[in-house]
Amino acid sequence: MPAISKSTRPGAGNLKDRVTKMPHGEREHFPHPPIFRFTSGIYSDCNELKAGAQDVLKSDYPRYSRFGTPVTDAVEHELTHLERGYGSLSACSGLAAITSVLLSFLRPGDRMLITRSVYEPVRRYVMTYLSRLGISATFLSSREFTQLERYVTENTTLIYVESPSSNVFEVTDIEVVAQFAKLRGIVTIMDNTWSTPLLLNPLRYGFDVVIHSASKYLSGHSDAIIGTITTTEQYYNPLRRYLIASGMCAGGEESFSLYKGLKTLALRLTAQQKTTQGLTEMLTAHPAVRRVVSPVLPAHTDHEVFRKYYQQGNGIFSFAVTKPKDSQRDVFLRRLAHFKLAYGWGGTESCIIPFSAPDWLPESDGLSFFRISVGIEEEGMLKTELSTALLELM
Ligand SMILES: *Cc1c(COP(=O)(O)O)cnc(C)c1O
Repeated sequence: MPAISKSTRPGAGNLKDRVTKMPHGEREHFPHPPIFRFTSGIYSDCNELKAGAQDVLKSDYPRYSRFGTPVTDAVEHELTHLERGYGSLSACSGLAAITSVLLSFLRPGDRMLITRSVYEPVRRYVMTYLSRLGISATFLSSREFTQLERYVTENTTLIYVESPSSNVFEVTDIEVVAQFAKLRGIVTIMDNTWSTPLLLNPLRYGFDVVIHSASKYLSGHSDAIIGTITTTEQYYNPLRRYLIASGMCAGGEESFSLYKGLKTLALRLTAQQKTTQGLTEMLTAHPAVRRVVSPVLPAHTDHEVFRKYYQQGNGIFSFAVTKPKDSQRDVFLRRLAHFKLAYGWGGTESCIIPFSAPDWLPESDGLSFFRISVGIEEEGMLKTELSTALLELM
């Protein structure tokens, strides 16, 4: 991973001068951006006040911290650099980043195409709240995303892809999607949380907007809820305007956790990827395991597409066992001292969570599925613990 860089956020205007003037001379001697605890900045006079009020995109720190602070700026610079975008924005959660981007683009009567195995809260938001606004959605499989001419209608204005998707890791051929969408003037948005910017940069394949739940690998320590949006020159200012208007800004502490997390992202991911390889090999050979679900494995239906885009995987995968009795399942989970029973993922501690397979998943009858997020614990220990606990399910 590249070192934390010193890029300049586009559109930062006079805000940059301010930071340069004030604490920056000092900051040269410190490795991190400061967390300034403030709401309103203080103007030196009415001229400055007037200048600041003129353009919402150019008046930052002196006005109100919702518009940005040194640490949110630093995080946004990093994401722009890592995702090879024009500019980035931070939001108070990954979900807030997603709903904000959707609301900023969609109008009543619009239709969106979206990954069928999308992160469940996003599906719920689209079906419950966007539908109320007269916005409809069609949920597509990864294969259907390669046949877009069959699904795009006159009012289709937006394509939202999560890939590899939640729990079952459907991988979408994003280059095909982006090329098609460009010809039709359809905006393309990708939830890139699974990949982190180190494994895939969707903007390079023509996507317009990339979102991360930075609560996962990017901050990496299960201690912050924060989201990021990275985009092109065309969409940066409109999105920034929308985020300012909706007040979805990230907090300083969370931004700092993210900033710090980014420094070890490559190290963590490399370790997690290696341990995951060991664990999936063990599970594939384990007599209690019926299926291991990971796009890294040749058995996955989207493995070929995965190989087109990825050199390696991350630390998350699923597996299935023959449906156990509840009591048996509970004993199994209790034996896993180092795999915490928890929803979150991408942290330093390994986690496991049961999930219900979607109806369309083939040959899933009579199986129970679990998703694992591998932490940075010692590989041999995790392997022994999991393989021993699985004997409870035989
Ligand atoms: C967790 C998650 C989100 C939501 O992010 P929060 O920061 O928890 O709001 C969105 N997309 C994916 C793929 C996720 O795993």
